[in-house]
Amino acid sequence: MMALAKDLSVRGELRYNEPMSRHTSWRAGGKADLFFIPASVQDLQAFLRELDEGTPIFWLGVGSNLLVRDGGLRGVVISATSILRELERIDSYLVRAGSGVPCTQLARQCIRWGLGPSEFFAGIPGTVGGALTMNAGAHGGETWERVESVRTIDRDGEIHLRSPAEYSVGYRSVTGPANEWFLEATFRFEPGVAASMDAMKQMLERRKATQPLGLPSCGSVFRNPEGDHAARLIEAAGLKGYRIGGAEVSPKHANFIINTGDATATDIEELIEHVRQTVIEQQGVELKHEVRIVGEAPA
Ligand SMILES: Cc1cc2nc3c(=O)[nH]c(=O)nc-3n(C[C@H](O)[C@H](O)[C@H](O)COP(=O)(O)OP(=O)(O)OC[C@H]3O[C@@H](n4cnc5c(N)ncnc54)[C@H](O)[C@@H]3O)c2cc1C
Repeated sequence: MMALAKDLSVRGELRYNEPMSRHTSWRAGGKADLFFIPASVQDLQAFLRELDEGTPIFWLGVGSNLLVRDGGLRGVVISATSILRELERIDSYLVRAGSGVPCTQLARQCIRWGLGPSEFFAGIPGTVGGALTMNAGAHGGETWERVESVRTIDRDGEIHLRSPAEYSVGYRSVTGPANEWFLEATFRFEPGVAASMDAMKQMLERRKATQPLGLPSCGSVFRNPEGDHAARLIEAAGLKGYRIGGAEVSPKHANFIINTGDATATDIEELIEHVRQTVIEQQGVELKHEVRIVGEAPA
């Protein structure tokens, strides 16, 4: 085990060799050397200040877009979702949300406040922090279309208020200042666009009918190439139901890979690669990962 810090004295919870399969929606993956759950933002700041400069940091949301390889993650995983749960309306159209707030909760509360368009957040089973990192979206809506400002924290525990102009934002992609993580966002909704609970429920029903929602997955594995759908290309390559170990291309939605029970992260990654290669060979299109793959291959 590498030396992780000079002298870590924190109030939060520190766990060693934490199985990341407990923290990813695929229910697979290796161990994190150290897993830190801060007790407060001040505690988080103190931890970051004390952490050795060379220790890698991985910031976790709820792991709904994440494959951690079976060799695990070196350094420290920070899980701050439980302390970043504030959600408040700050004026007619502005809402401040902590990065640990589930997107589903953001959607429901905005609908109660009569603020839209916000229903699309209900389809994203991650946190506000994950949605900011991925520019998550659904049904024509995208996270950064609504961002007014964000608050971040850096490796030294310093907090910054940043504007969208400081980020380069694209389809499921966001690039901004290095070595900073999201603490909260202020979202602006539109006057006169009241969202409705019924519209949200109908949207969720449609998803249930077309996606394998009760089974462990990360949602869409690949981004949609321009003008096409990754699911269509994978299905046309005859891959629905294709399996490696315990990992299977969902027979219900070809861009989902499901853990049928005992899949390892290696099974899942090999299946992702098999799908990618087969689609190149048969359809001539190179699909790009939407899922984040991190950590080390097993020794
Ligand atoms: C059934 C299912 C359906 C899905 N449907 C959709 C969909 O319709 N649209 C869509 O866009 N996505 C969808 N997803 C994918 C996923 O929910 C989103 O990408 C989500 O935004 C990830 O959030 P998370 O909290 O789980 O992040 P994680 O998976 O924990 O992390 C994802 C990335 O974000 C980083 N990160 C997380 N929090 C922070 C933070 N506070 N600061 C900095 N970096 C951070 C992580 O380091 C990692 O790189 C689906 C997933 C599932 C399982």
